[in-house]
Amino acid sequence: MSNIQMVSSPGEILIADSIIQKLKSKNNLDFDLTINIDYLLDTIGMYTPEIPNTIFVNPDLVMIDNDAESKKYHSYSGYVYDNTLIAVVLHEFSHFLCHEVFVGIVDDYDKKFSKVLALCDNSYKNKDEELVEIMRLYIINPLLLKLIDGDVYKFIKSYFKSPSPTSQKHAIEFYDDYPVRIRKELAKKWKLKLLDNKITKVE
Ligand SMILES: [Zn+2]
Repeated sequence: MSNIQMVSSPGEILIADSIIQKLKSKNNLDFDLTINIDYLLDTIGMYTPEIPNTIFVNPDLVMIDNDAESKKYHSYSGYVYDNTLIAVVLHEFSHFLCHEVFVGIVDDYDKKFSKVLALCDNSYKNKDEELVEIMRLYIINPLLLKLIDGDVYKFIKSYFKSPSPTSQKHAIEFYDDYPVRIRKELAKKWKLKLLDNKITKVE
């Protein structure tokens, strides 16, 4: 067999890593992390505490089809359904944060929030997955989480600062790319509308 060298990783992994590095420096955190890119992995992403400081992703299994009937293929950056490689890396990274950096955060969350914050189907699996989906949104689009549930936003913020700005400008950049049906879902499910160029909660 020839030597196989990967000169550069898939671009989205580098973008995800730059977000991770920003989170690390903004919060003065000190941890080592390996992002293991494994094209033979049978799942899109994986984290296990048995292999510390490591997350695994398989870029080949990223399947996005916004016309598919099943929501599991839908993906909108900066929204609650986000299946880009960036979001997969940040999902697994959030598991790593829960287990190795902010130890106890899942139990703390479980004690404070008994009701499921159902961002997506994953949220119903268990408290780990629910919290990780919340953290991923907080990392990518913090204002949206703040508008969806201010108490949950405050809870995560008490542990670490988001690497992304909690600003209308940042949230609207994502909003501008949402198709009509996602804007409708935002209005119906989360009571959020764009009014006077501001994403606003309308009761
Ligand atoms: Zn997970």
